[in-house]
This record gives sequence, C-alpha cells and structure tokens, in this order.
Amino acid sequence: MQIKKQQHNCSLTIDVEEYFQVEAFANDIDIKDWINYPSRIELQINLLLDLLKEQKISATFFVLGFIAEKHPKLVQKIAANGHEIASHGFNHQHITKQNRAEFSADIKQAKDLLEQLISAPVLGYRAPCFSISAENEWAHDEIKNAGYQYSSSTYPISHDFYGVPNAPKTPYYLTNGLLEIPISTLRIYKKTFPAGGGGYFRLLPYFIFQSMFQASGQQLDFLNFYTHPWEYDPEQPKIMSSFKSNFRHRVNQHSALKKLEKLCKTAQFDTLAKCHLNKEYPCLGDWTKIASGDY
Ligand SMILES: [Zn+2]
Repeated sequence: MQIKKQQHNCSLTIDVEEYFQVEAFANDIDIKDWINYPSRIELQINLLLDLLKEQKISATFFVLGFIAEKHPKLVQKIAANGHEIASHGFNHQHITKQNRAEFSADIKQAKDLLEQLISAPVLGYRAPCFSISAENEWAHDEIKNAGYQYSSSTYPISHDFYGVPNAPKTPYYLTNGLLEIPISTLRIYKKTFPAGGGGYFRLLPYFIFQSMFQASGQQLDFLNFYTHPWEYDPEQPKIMSSFKSNFRHRVNQHSALKKLEKLCKTAQFDTLAKCHLNKEYPCLGDWTKIASGDY
C-alpha cells in the first residue's frame, strides 16, 4: 500500500538515557549504583545517527545531563550531525520525587552543561517519564524560569506511570509564555489512545502503529513521535526486575530499528524547534487549569 507522506509539523524525538536509568527500573536500581552498569549509549546513538543520516532526517535529542557529563563528545557528535540538542534534565528523577528547588537546580544544571558543550542555546526540555502531573503547580514556571522556550513533557493519555488525560492534544502556550508540545494521540470515538511511540511502538505490529500514527497526524495536523536509544539494543544487560517491567522494556527490541526505518519514510520529520517555535498557537492559561481540561 502506498502511504501518503505527511509533510508538515512532524517531529521525531529521542530521549537520551541509559537502559538502567528508566522509570520502570527505578525501584530496582538506585541512582548511586548507575556507575556500576556498563554504558551502551554510544553504540545505541551511533545506530540511530546512521539511520537518520540515511533517511535525511533531523531529530530532537533530549539529552540527560548525566549522559552529557560522561559522554561530552557524543553530544557534540549529535549536534554536528545537524540535530537539535534539547534537555531531559540532569538526573532523570520523577518530578514527584523532587521539590521545587531540586527540580529547578536539575533542569538548570543540564541546560548549562549542554550549552557549554554545543556552544548554542538549548531551547527545549522534556520531563523524565512525562512526570508533570495535573496537580503540579510549579514545573512549567520553573522550566520557563530556567530559560527554556518550549517543553514537550505531557502525554495526554491515561497510563499507570504518567499521563494528563484532560490536557490539550495539540501545541499551546501557557500564560507564562512557555510553549508545550504534547506527544501524539489518536481519538477514536470518545477514547484517546497513545499514538506517539515508546513501548507501544515496539509492542504493536508495525501496520497498526503506523495506521494510528498517520491517522493522528491527519486528526491533529501535527505529529510528535518519541523513542529512546535503549529500545534498539537487544544485547543490553538484563536488569533483575519484575516480569512486567522487563517485558515492557525488552519487548521486540530486535525488530525496532527496522520499524523505525519504515516509519521514517512516512513523514517529513524535523526538529521540534524548527516545526513549532515562532508559530502561532493559542494561549490556554495556567497549567493546573489546562491540565484539568478547563481551557
Ligand atoms: Zn526519560
């Protein structure tokens, strides 16, 4: 079947973190033990850089400060390949585990380090595990105060780890001037389904995911796909954790790169900054109001 390639406002985003830093294993691995795990990030990023080069795609890489500190040349290599460097914070801690001052320090530290490494401003931020909840009153203000211009930190679905189901499904400004760019979703009848990547991308047969992704683009007139380097590396060490966490983490890693290659051909992907900054979007109010569906 010939697929009509979506042309406008399509972004491919990559959250640059190690396999041992993911939220699914947060109860199994303490942050102080991260240094004991073998790093796989260079190998994984090189796979993705090769694929993106072949497909002539510029992507947004949300890089963890922890990774940037350990692999500065890797960050520079990503930037030299024409991709956008954005921030995933420093220590990948769920926002509910941080107070306001800790969160602010974490996102500033990551931004400063990344900017030093690439000698350019870092404009975008993504919260670890989309963990800004509907009740969180301060995260978006701290993101703005730290000097970011946009955030892509909300997945407007219901999920056991994250999700703000009543939040808008398309980009919007908050009263403080920060642009929020949600992850792609698809509305079928009265239900909202995740359509933007992550575990669902690996779990679902390609044609089902691709159909949902394409339909989401037509429905919302934009696409925001997210993925992680560890999703393409079946050789990574296995973490001692629950069956559920390991299944979610490892399912179909062996076939994910082929799927991504196919997906790359379905849309004219570009960075979030190029797709969305300096475009006109509505200002919908303060976060807690917006998150409750009052906009
Ligand atoms: Zn992450």
